[in-house]
Amino acid sequence: MPSLLASLISTGETHLVIGYSNVASIRITSIIESGASPILITNKGTIFTPSVQQYQEDGKLEIIYDDLKIDNIRNSLKTLGREEVDGIVDRVFVSLPSGCHLLKKQIFETCKKLRIPINTSDSPEFCTFTLLASYTSGDFQMGVTTSGKGCRLASRIKRELANSLPPDIGAICNKIGELRKAIQKEDQLQLESIGEHDDDAVNSHKFNTFVPEFNASEEHLKLQRTRWLAQIVEYYPLKKLATLSITDLTNAYHDHKENPTPTKKQKLSRKGQLTLVGSGPGSVSLLTLGALQAIHTADLVLADKLVPQQVLDIIPRKTELFIARKFPGNAEKAQEELLSLGITALNEGKNVIRLKQGDPYIFGRGGEEFNYFKDQGFTPTVIPGITSALAAPVLSNIPATHRDVADQVLICTGTGRRGAIPTLPEFIKSRTTVFLMTLHRVVEFIPKLIEQKGWDPKLPVAIIERASCPDQRVIRTTLSKVADAVEACGSRPPGLLVTGYACEVIFKNEDAKEWTVEEGCNVDFDETFDSIVKLVGSSASPEPVAPVHVTPQITV
Ligand code: SAH
Repeated sequence: MPSLLASLISTGETHLVIGYSNVASIRITSIIESGASPILITNKGTIFTPSVQQYQEDGKLEIIYDDLKIDNIRNSLKTLGREEVDGIVDRVFVSLPSGCHLLKKQIFETCKKLRIPINTSDSPEFCTFTLLASYTSGDFQMGVTTSGKGCRLASRIKRELANSLPPDIGAICNKIGELRKAIQKEDQLQLESIGEHDDDAVNSHKFNTFVPEFNASEEHLKLQRTRWLAQIVEYYPLKKLATLSITDLTNAYHDHKENPTPTKKQKLSRKGQLTLVGSGPGSVSLLTLGALQAIHTADLVLADKLVPQQVLDIIPRKTELFIARKFPGNAEKAQEELLSLGITALNEGKNVIRLKQGDPYIFGRGGEEFNYFKDQGFTPTVIPGITSALAAPVLSNIPATHRDVADQVLICTGTGRRGAIPTLPEFIKSRTTVFLMTLHRVVEFIPKLIEQKGWDPKLPVAIIERASCPDQRVIRTTLSKVADAVEACGSRPPGLLVTGYACEVIFKNEDAKEWTVEEGCNVDFDETFDSIVKLVGSSASPEPVAPVHVTPQITV
């Protein structure tokens, strides 16, 4: 049975530690760090570690010598606590030798009667709470439990998780906290409306809903700005967040409407080179060798917001990286800014790559960018990428074509120009249709398919989010249940919708569930990444030292 996990605020409380051991000494340190006052009851003649002696000398720890009889302990439990709670101690940690079974039982029963939470080391039967293997860095805290299956294992898992985090994760938490406050003050918003709990922002199915870019009302503008913060938290590579300054972020928040727009052709000195590069759907293993080589010879990488951390990590440390300043309602301006930065660098003779998610020519504005750069005198080279539209079905066991089931594939979008609903595709029974940029508007979009185009409401479908990333998720359902499934499961962008009978060629919904959810992706990332690092040599570095300009990103 899973426990209810919580993070307890212990400031000012009195915690009683009964019996002394190495475990007790570790508990005493944690109690002091949590802002509570420990009192230790132990036998006369106990030998303490230097740190415990120091706590006592500094007045941070009170030690009571006692022969540990239950009557005295009962009395201590009721009298040593704070006055405001009538002397009852707030929490009890028992650390007695294994032979003291009866005494442990008596202490446990007394604590239960007095409603005092108790933890008895090595005796789960005498605990009303257990402690997590924890990691703290500033305000960031992480706890791991294996529900009593092994504290050593929990500690190992904690270490590995902690190692995978940026070292300044505490500073990142602070930064986001400051930013939330600054925005809240500016827009005079209630905290709840910008997501008091970041989880709400991430899990809410509304997180990625459509925000109009044009003719926006004051309410919409406010929504754009609150969404901006939620999207920074959701999309920004954590490592990059640490390198950002609050001033940069706040400026980006302010001046997003004043992005420079290139006007006329500038004079060339040395001719730079532009390459439009497809980065695949997310996993490094799905980059082409051509893309890898382009990344490794670039002076400047102009990346889309969707290009994930794993791919950004292989950009050499000497290379400058700019991630699109896209946030809700600002797609057009952000695109102009990116193009303008590209032209400036090209005019300086630089080798620039436009790193685009998936394939550059599948809903990536690749054609527009090609024409733009060509008109400015820089005809791009284009390197194809594996499109999410075709990779996501493969990664979720959907053969897009299958004999007697599907003989054609259509890739389309649910978001047309300026946010309009695009021309609806016909329903063809033998067709697998992949909808990109659609999940945020399924509520309005799907009824139109069913009512206006006669799509089968029972058509099997799959929502595939973050395809090929470690946090890939596949939700399988039927067309008419998509909106309910999205509302129930929340959104984990980017995601797409695959429809058609091909969805049930391999997966069979034998339990006739309304929807099923599968987490994770079976592409072996670590191994792939290791071999790529070997391939590209020591220049691949997860910690870029060159200036990194990153600013908010957007739902496309
Ligand atoms: N050029 C890209 C598509 C850009 S449009 C490509 O070829 O993949 C952006 C849309 O692509 C998103 O809204 C989402 O529908 C889809 N998408 C991109 N990456 C994805 C991924 N890893 N998993 C699922 N969908 C993805």
